[in-house]
Formats: sequence, structure tokens, C-alpha cells
Amino acid sequence: MDFELSEEQKEFKALARSVIEKELKPLVLKLDEKDLYRADIMKEILIKDIDLLMLKLAEENVYSTKFIAALEEKLKLLTRALPEESSYPMEFVKKMGELGFMGILIPEKYDGLGKGIFDCVLIAEEVAKVCLSATTALSVISLGTLPILLSGTEEQKKKYLTKIASGDSLAAFAITEADAGSDVMAMKTRAVRDGNFYVLNGEKQFITSAGLSDIYSVFAVTNPAAEPRSVAAAHRLSGFILEKGTPGLAFGKKEKKLGIRASETRSLILTDCRVPAENLIGGKEGLGLATISGTLTRSRIMVGAFGAGHASGTFEEALIYANNRKQFNKSISEFQAIQHKLADMSVLVETAQLLTYKAAWSADHGAPKNLLAKLSAQAKYYASNAACKVADDAVQIFGGMGFMEESGIPKRWRDARILRIYEGTDEIQKNEIARILTKEVSKK
Ligand SMILES: Cc1cc2nc3c(=O)[nH]c(=O)nc-3n(C[C@H](O)[C@H](O)[C@H](O)COP(=O)(O)OP(=O)(O)OC[C@H]3O[C@@H](n4cnc5c(N)ncnc54)[C@H](O)[C@@H]3O)c2cc1C
Repeated sequence: MDFELSEEQKEFKALARSVIEKELKPLVLKLDEKDLYRADIMKEILIKDIDLLMLKLAEENVYSTKFIAALEEKLKLLTRALPEESSYPMEFVKKMGELGFMGILIPEKYDGLGKGIFDCVLIAEEVAKVCLSATTALSVISLGTLPILLSGTEEQKKKYLTKIASGDSLAAFAITEADAGSDVMAMKTRAVRDGNFYVLNGEKQFITSAGLSDIYSVFAVTNPAAEPRSVAAAHRLSGFILEKGTPGLAFGKKEKKLGIRASETRSLILTDCRVPAENLIGGKEGLGLATISGTLTRSRIMVGAFGAGHASGTFEEALIYANNRKQFNKSISEFQAIQHKLADMSVLVETAQLLTYKAAWSADHGAPKNLLAKLSAQAKYYASNAACKVADDAVQIFGGMGFMEESGIPKRWRDARILRIYEGTDEIQKNEIARILTKEVSKK
């Protein structure tokens, strides 16, 4: 295994880096500011409104309970009336599309760059060093692309991969439902064949880039007789490509999140949604589970890259701060307590990167299915936790400044937390690693 980068890979990284520096870095804190901004508007409007209400109520000589009820009503109306602005980094995503990065995994015959997971990892790492929100917004390059790339028919690949590769169409992946998160097989969304169409009914929740995307890989039950824990379960689900604008496809409200606020998350509501039968992924019913697991095995390596990149960017900032910040007439980096933290952080960063590189290299070199699933779960689990630990240590190294939004460290701390949840929680990764380990032993 040789991780020495080729000249082309070095150029890729440098190109991504220059776009990130120009288009993304100056925006990073602004991407997260929306809620504060809205709070300011609210305050301004409210103060004006309260003054008016007070005046009116004083004139009418009413009791304070009536005043509070009127105020509450006003507050509800104002909240609804405020525009729902988007903080999605559209300009940056467009620029990445122009450079071909949205089609990095897509073969050249569908107008992509025809690269592997390793090259994809290099780009994702660079973006994640600066902003994990923007990296998640770019998940189209893996999650949005892989179901069609791995299981699509030739016609589906020609039609949809070329659109993604051009950078004009974003793509999303929808499996999660209210009662089917870690337990994917519990999904209830139903697809029933009706002539040349399938009719989909159900609701998907927490879908990244829902509403913004033009192409959706949506999974549904086509064979309810194949019970979730039975031998036939493998053929219970099927995937469908849905285009934005399909009658019966609607989107929920933009979710308010703890972190990665520049990545938009909404539900997908399917009401008698008629999808042409030619959009059944792979052209055959029952391929859903294999498509989901092939996609997640590879996209979890990308989450490893998100974690390794985020941890590395946070570490760099903490190291610079520790060298510059003086207390007791010394740089705080001269205190052993801080030095040990920096040493631990550097080990977390390097290990996260190595595990991710190993998994990506194995994916590109045809590792067997189970080995790849284990390596990708290990990389995702380790790198996600590394990013959280490094972000937490960075808050400590920055001291009070680490608690202030202006330092950018609170955003890093909040953003990192999602890594341990989406595309399979820590617990699910550990279940997966252990499942494969015990299987390997029982074969010996
Ligand atoms: C910001 C964001 C973006 C997302 N984007 C997408 C997307 O684009 N597409 C999509 O389809 N989904 C998406 N998701 C959904 C995400 O993948 C799920 O939230 C995640 O898989 C966990 O499912 P859950 O939230 O239902 O938690 P649950 O499954 O209810 O889990 C709750 C807790 O129980 C634990 N648990 C559950 N089962 C087990 C078990 N067998 N053993 C041990 N512990 C267990 C979990 O680890 C967790 O700690 C997104 C979620 C978020 C928050």
C-alpha cells in the first residue's frame, strides 16, 4: 500500500485548496450566522411592536394577561412571517462543479473525471479542513452519485450521471424515516407498480440537500411479503430515481440543527407520487438493500475523510493559537499540559487519516465486500470520534476565546458532532465491525 500522491493528485488538492481559500474560507462564519441574524431582526421588530402594543394597551387600560396573550400571538405571526433564508454555500458548490469535482467519481464516458474513492477523499479532506457544513453540502459527490453508479442501468447512468457530472444537478439519497433510522429494513415507504409507473407513498426524514437537489435516490418496500428478518429480506426493498417536480413529491421545512447549518436538511413527502418504471434503479425489483449497503460502505469512507479533514483543520488552528497565546510570560504551548493535548491531537489526526486512506485505497483496489465494509466502518467510527475529541480539546486550548463564536471554534465543535450520527451511528459502525470480525473467525 503506497499513499505517496501522484503529481495529478497533488494538482487536484492544490486546485481544490485554491477554490476553498477564495470561495469558502471568507464565508465560513457567515454560513452559521443565520440564526443570530434572524434573532436580531426579531428583536428589532419586536421592540417596535411591543412599544406599539404597550401604547395601545395603556390607552385601553387592559390587564397584563391580555397583554402577554397578545404578545404571544404577535410573536407567532412574526416567526412565521420572517423569510427563510438559505445559508447553503451555492457559489462554492457551483465553482466546485465547474472544476468537475461533482463528477469526480463518475466515469469519463458519462462526462465525469473517472477517479476513485481515494481522489474523492483527498478533495473532501481539504474542504472539511475549512468547513464541515460545506463538505456535507457536497455529499452529492458520494451519497448522491453512488446508488446510480453502482446499480443503475446504462440508460439511467447516461441520463442522470451526466447531469451530476456537469455540476448543474445536485443529488440526494433518502432511506431514513421516522421509525426507520438505524433499522433501515423497518422503512414503510411503499412503491406499488401501476402500468408503466410505480406509485410511492411515505415520508423520508433528515434528508441532506432535500429541496435543493434535482435528483433523488429514494428507497421503498416493493416486496412486503419478504419480512425484514427473514431469509428473503434481502429482496424487500427497491430504489427509485425521482426528479424534483415529479407530481406527489414535496419537501418539509428546513430543519434547525445543532451544527452543519449550511447543509440543508428536510423531509421528503411522497403522496401518490408517480415515478416512471424506467426509474427503478437497476431495472429490477429487490436490488434496494444491496444498493444501500454498497453506497454506505463507500460513502462512510468519505465521512472518514470529513472527520480526518475537520480534525486536521481544527488541530492546525489550536497549534497556532497555543504558540501565540501568552500567559505567565510564556506561550501556553510551553506548558506540558497543553503540549500533551497537542501531541494527542496530532496522533488522532494522523490515525484518522491513515485509516481513511487505507479504506479508500482498498475500495479502489477491489477489496472483498466484507473486508471493505469493516475498513470503512473502522475509518468512519475512528475519524468521527477523532474530530469530536480534537474539537473539544481545541475549545480547552483556546480557553474563554474557544467559547466565543468569533474564534470559529464553537462552530467546529458543533459541526463535528454530526459525524458520529449520520450514515450510521457509532454504535452501528461497532456492530458492523464486530459482525464481520466474528464472521471471519468462524470461517477459520
Ligand atoms: C444532519 C443529518 C443529515 C442526514 N442526512 C441523511 C440523508 O441524506 N439521507 C438519509 O437517508 N438519512 C440521513 N440522515 C439520517 C441518519 O442517517 C440517521 O439519523 C442515523 O442513521 C440514526 O438514525 P436515527 O436518527 O433514527 O437514530 P436511532 O436509530 O433511533 O438511534 C438512536 C440511538 O440508538 C442507538 N441504536 C439503534 N440501534 C442500535 C443497535 N442495533 N445497537 C446499538 N445501538 C443502537 C443508535 O446508535 C443511537 O445512539 C441524516 C441525519 C442527520 C441528523
